[in-house]
Amino acid sequence: MQDTINFNVASNGVLDPSLAIKGHTGKMKKKILQKLYQGFVQLHILYHSKKDRVYGVWMMDELKRHGYNIGPGTLYPLLNKMEQSGLLIKEKQVVKGKVRKYYSITQLGIEVFKDAEQKAAQLFHEIKGIQNDKI
Ligand SMILES: [Zn+2]
Repeated sequence: MQDTINFNVASNGVLDPSLAIKGHTGKMKKKILQKLYQGFVQLHILYHSKKDRVYGVWMMDELKRHGYNIGPGTLYPLLNKMEQSGLLIKEKQVVKGKVRKYYSITQLGIEVFKDAEQKAAQLFHEIKGIQNDKI
């Protein structure tokens, strides 16, 4: 317990999160970012399913394009969870002899997206604003 606390404290006694990252290397950082990005990814899915229905492989490629490396083992349960929450609605269609699951946004999904979009824009502007102040 004592070690964990010392870990985050620099020699001057100030709490320094970068020390924790150094100590636990990428593993802890990766876990934290994964959790943080789950919200971003869901927002991304809502955004695209609002424009047009999406399916797993397409969504995976799209997320990869944005730098999110998400495999089917993560994406499919997430789509499922979002469907169960009532954010998305699923329809099956046979494409080239294979069943493809398409996801479209629901009214609830649209409402959730609108709220989250505002918060994301607000945060983005604040972060950008802080950076501009430093220049
Ligand atoms: Zn996108």
